[in-house]
Amino acid sequence: MNTEERKLFSITKDALESLQLLKAALDSSITGIVITDNSLPDNPIVYCNESFERLTGYGRDEIIGRNCRFLQAKDRKQAQRDYLKKAIEAGDSCKVELRNYKKDGTLFWNELYLSPIKNEEGRITHFIGVQHDITDRKKAEHDLQYEKEQIEKIVQKRTHDLNASHEYLNSILQTVRESLVVLDPSYNVLSVNNHFLTTFKVNASETQGKSLYELGNGQWNIKPLKDLIEGILPTSNPVLGFEVDHEFPHIGRKLMLLNAYRIELEGEFKDRILLAIEDITDKRAIEQRKDDFLSVASHELKTPLTTIKGYVQLIQRLLPPTSSQKLKDVLNTTAIHIDRLNQLVKDLLDVSRIQTGNASIHADYFNVNKMVEEVIEGLKYSITSHKIHLNGQVDQEVYGDEAQLSQVVINLISNAIKYSPKADCVDISLSKVSDYLKVSVTDYGVGISQADQEKIFQRFYRVGAVQKHFPGMGIGLYICQQIIEQHFGYLWVESEEGKGSTFSFTLPFNASTADGE
Ligand code: ADP
Repeated sequence: MNTEERKLFSITKDALESLQLLKAALDSSITGIVITDNSLPDNPIVYCNESFERLTGYGRDEIIGRNCRFLQAKDRKQAQRDYLKKAIEAGDSCKVELRNYKKDGTLFWNELYLSPIKNEEGRITHFIGVQHDITDRKKAEHDLQYEKEQIEKIVQKRTHDLNASHEYLNSILQTVRESLVVLDPSYNVLSVNNHFLTTFKVNASETQGKSLYELGNGQWNIKPLKDLIEGILPTSNPVLGFEVDHEFPHIGRKLMLLNAYRIELEGEFKDRILLAIEDITDKRAIEQRKDDFLSVASHELKTPLTTIKGYVQLIQRLLPPTSSQKLKDVLNTTAIHIDRLNQLVKDLLDVSRIQTGNASIHADYFNVNKMVEEVIEGLKYSITSHKIHLNGQVDQEVYGDEAQLSQVVINLISNAIKYSPKADCVDISLSKVSDYLKVSVTDYGVGISQADQEKIFQRFYRVGAVQKHFPGMGIGLYICQQIIEQHFGYLWVESEEGKGSTFSFTLPFNASTADGE
């Protein structure tokens, strides 16, 4: 080998070594690389690296000579394929994402970068394809898209539900037969319902955005109401049962009952106030007529009853000793029923006196032990079914209307006996608690449910379940409560259904506060 030949040999050897180095570098790459020869028919693959073999599962011998499209198998309808085709025709480089299939048929997403190689004349001789398996990324994208769609669906459903419940709520607000007003924290009207507009004969523009105190002719601008309403947001204390008797514009004199609450909708709108206004003018007028009727009826009944009672007593006195026992019994029974009727009429009169504010008390100091003992003694003759036990005694005298307070004790004992037909005793206890007298009457009878316990002190309220079995008018407890309240005391009940009840009242020993005169 001469010097020229040796030189040529060395250059060829160097070139071969660097080619092998290049091949080794391409094979060790994790990216699949193919080279296609554009000068041959159908642009066949003339080179692929090992990574491309791993990517596709095909061996080199199955790859070389084929057009790249074999990787799409039968999945030819892919929009990105058209884009790729156009780029090849135009001789442009491009990037596409294709659904390709491995030799075993599994799908993989192939991100393909294609670049044309041009010769000195600018003709495309080859294409180089660099490929990545982006199946995991595609799956993550797909999952993300799916999640997004699901979330969108949920949001749509929630929005729909929210709109529906908003409409539902709104339709309730618009149909309730009570005037409703929503106020912002500065007491300006945010909205009113239809009933408000029709009741006060105004339109929405006359109310919305206006201060509550400016509405109409300033009907709600009342100092005590203002103080209560302005205390709602800081304290969360509602305003309940505030009565406004006023000459309203357009509708004249009306009596309105007002409740106001802080709005709490699952923690939202906490700074808003809901006012509910009820027109109770007619209701109050009907109640008044009922009270007037009761008052007149009981007065009218009282006079003939007193006369009848007098005549029966006269007959009893004038009856000759030889009269038959039967006649004596009939007269006795008549007298008992007249007494009962008298008591009922007296109760009705008491109620109407309380209603009209004419019930006055005649207070003085009296011995409460003696009073209770006398009541028990008096009841002993008419009550044989139960034993009445008295426990405890109080040394201090009480200041109050003895007749009225003994009526309270009689009512409580009579109820205790009436509502415990299967029991045989009633317990009464007297005690001094701090500066109060406490009297309790306990029975072992039918008891009173929690819900009814809150209502039995109302006028004419009787517990539904016992009404049929026990006579009564539902006014005894109302009278008792009024009497105790007039004496600055408190009356309450503790009871368990089926076990019995304890009615207790307290009275302050402090004499001066109990004088209602
Ligand atoms: P009346 O007994 O005439 O119905 P009251 O005003 O005295 O009227 O009592 C109201 C209601 O309270 C009664 O109808 C009864 O349902 C209930 N009640 C009162 N006292 C008792 C009691 N000791 N045990 C059970 N229920 C009672």
